[in-house]
Amino acid sequence: MNTLYLIDDLQAARKKLAFPVGLVPTMGYLHEGHISLVRRARRECASVIATIFVNPTQFGPQEDFAAYPRDLPRDLALFEQNGVDIAWLPEQNEMYPPDFQTWVNVEDVTQPLEGKMRPGHFRGVTTIVAKLFNAAQPDRAYFGQKDAQQAVVIRKMAEDLNFPIEIIICPTVRESDGLAMSSRNVYLDPAQRQAALVLYKSLKAAHEAFINGINDAEQLRLVMSDTISQEPLAKPQYVSCANPETLEELSGPVSRALISLAVVIGKTRLIDNLLIGEV
Ligand code: AMP
Repeated sequence: MNTLYLIDDLQAARKKLAFPVGLVPTMGYLHEGHISLVRRARRECASVIATIFVNPTQFGPQEDFAAYPRDLPRDLALFEQNGVDIAWLPEQNEMYPPDFQTWVNVEDVTQPLEGKMRPGHFRGVTTIVAKLFNAAQPDRAYFGQKDAQQAVVIRKMAEDLNFPIEIIICPTVRESDGLAMSSRNVYLDPAQRQAALVLYKSLKAAHEAFINGINDAEQLRLVMSDTISQEPLAKPQYVSCANPETLEELSGPVSRALISLAVVIGKTRLIDNLLIGEV
């Protein structure tokens, strides 16, 4: 595995990579969710570039940029063990030089849900992902369903800006008890870790209700909020039953939906989602 920092070095190495090239962008502190993307890219592509960059512009002023967990030596070992060809660790100064002033902004699908709770978040995400795409010029890029809105937003950006890149969304990887893997799970103390199970429990309760014939969007949101309210440590930020493509909140009977939620436990904000109904 080649570990590179500078865009010039990446681009020189990129020229020698066999087609198709897969890109896996991450913020590091890797877990099985990230590794599942790397493995899928390894299976489907001749060459794999994986990146680690804790992107400051997607964090709000009150968020955890400075405290975001980091373990570079472990991450690089995991990339290497899973067949990454190039680990690219972009430098802050090169990604955001002092006179940086160009932003990528996707409009409608960034407005609800995470966009509403985290103003500016998706502007940071789409800008950095566009920069990674331009520098690495992958044929395919791999993202996780765990960040469902991010997946929709990046698909839209790639389509609208004509990036010749296939966007591949991989299933959410969970701990054995159902908690979606996240680098932020390390913030949870044992009681909070137990309480965090309420996210998946709520999604499953709504999914079960749906399977049992309750298909009214508002009822499904109620099932989720009722379940969350049974966990005293959990403070819900939103529960949603939305159109999986437009992310507009649904009302009345639904045949398919993205059900999603954001919950704060202690100081940790957790999100999770499920796609329900016909595919
Ligand atoms: P992050 O390092 O949090 O920016 O995540 C990097 C990529 O890994 C994103 O595409 C995430 O959606 C994806 N990812 C994070 N957690 C999971 C998970 N539990 N299962 C699948 N993909 C994930």
